[in-house]
Amino acid sequence: MIIILKPNLDRSSAEFDALMGFLSNLPRVQVRVHEEHGSQQVLTELYLIGETSSLSSAEIEVLPGVERVVRISEPYRVLGRHRNDHRTTGFDYNGVRFGQENLNIFAGLCAVDTPESVEAMLRALRDQGQVCTRMGAYKPRTSPYAFQGHGQTCLPYVFELAGKYGIKVIAMEVTHEKHVDEISEALHRTGNPTGVMLQIGTRNTQNFELLKAVGRQRDFPVLLKRGFGITLDESLHAAEYLASEGNTRVVFGLRGMKTNMGDPHRNFVDFAHVPVVKRLTRMPVCVDPSHSVGTRERGPDGILDVFQVAAQAVVAGANMILVDFHPQPPKALVDGPQALTLGELPYFFDDMTIAREAYERRCALAARYAPDGP
Ligand code: PEP
Ligand code: MN
Repeated sequence: MIIILKPNLDRSSAEFDALMGFLSNLPRVQVRVHEEHGSQQVLTELYLIGETSSLSSAEIEVLPGVERVVRISEPYRVLGRHRNDHRTTGFDYNGVRFGQENLNIFAGLCAVDTPESVEAMLRALRDQGQVCTRMGAYKPRTSPYAFQGHGQTCLPYVFELAGKYGIKVIAMEVTHEKHVDEISEALHRTGNPTGVMLQIGTRNTQNFELLKAVGRQRDFPVLLKRGFGITLDESLHAAEYLASEGNTRVVFGLRGMKTNMGDPHRNFVDFAHVPVVKRLTRMPVCVDPSHSVGTRERGPDGILDVFQVAAQAVVAGANMILVDFHPQPPKALVDGPQALTLGELPYFFDDMTIAREAYERRCALAARYAPDGP
C-alpha cells in the first residue's frame, strides 16, 4: 500500500508525527518514507510493507496529512502502475523533462576518443537545437584487450565542452559505483557545466550491488538498459532495485535481445515492448536503435536499418532515443560500424520529427475511437 501525503507536508509537523505514530503501531507492517523533490513541490509517499491486506484504504485516507491511498496491485511496487494510480510519470532533471508523454533524443559518441570528436559532436548537436547527448567514458568490452574507454581522464573536457555548447544532460554508462564519485567530482571541479544521466548497461542489469549503490544516490537520474538475455519481468525488477533504494528517476531502455533469431542484426529488436513497459510502469521508455541493429546496412528504399528501428520506436511512443554518431565512424574506437555520421544528424532529427508526428496523430485517432468516446 502507498500513502501519498499532502504536498509540502512538513516532516517535523504534528500532523506527520500523528500519522507516523498510528502507522508504526500497526502489527507486522513496516513504513518506508520516500521523498520526491519536484521543481514546484516536495511529495512524500509512505510505503507500507508487510501484512497490509486487512488495512482499509478508506480508514487511512481520512488520517491527518493523507492525500490519497494506492493499493499495490503489481510486483513493481515503486515504479509500477497500480490500479487507480494517477501518480505522475517521469521527472525533471537539469531543466529537461523525462516523461511518458514526451521525446528526447540522445545522439552522441558511443565512446569518447578525442576532445576534437567530442567538440565536433556537441557543436553539431547545438546547431540542431539539442540539449542532450550520449558520451561513453567507461566502456564494458567483451575483450580485456579492447579499448576500455578513457575513464575519468576525459571527464573534465567532456563536461566543459558540454557546457560550452549548451548540453544539459549526458547519458554516461557506469560499470562500478566509484565511477559515480568520479563523475560527481569532475562535475564539481568544472563548475557543474552540465548534467549526467547514469547509464547501467545491459551487462550490468542484474548487478544488484551496483543497482543498490546507484539507487542510493539522488544526484543523478538513471537509464537502466534491459538485460539482453533475461525476461522483461526480471529487468523491471532490476529497475525496482534502484527505486526501492530511493532513486525513482529511472528511464527504462530497450536495446534488443541477444539471440541468433535477430541475425543479421546485432540483437533482436524488442520494441513491441515500448507500450508494455509504459503500461506496467510509470517509467519513460528509451530505445537504443544502434546497439540493436549494429550495422549501417540499408534497405532498397535507401533507409538505414538504424533509422528504421528508431522511427518504429518513436511511432510506438518511445520517450528517449539513444543513438550512436561519430564524426569519422571508421576511426571510432568502439562501435564504428553502427555509427551515423554528423552529415546524417539533421536528416535523423527530421526523420524522428515525422515519426513523432505519426505517433501523436495515432494517439488522437485512438482517443477518437476510445470505447468511452474522446
Ligand atoms: C552502450 O550504450 O554504449 C552500450 C554498451 O549499450 P548496451 O549496454 O545496451 O550494450
Ligand atoms: Mn556501443
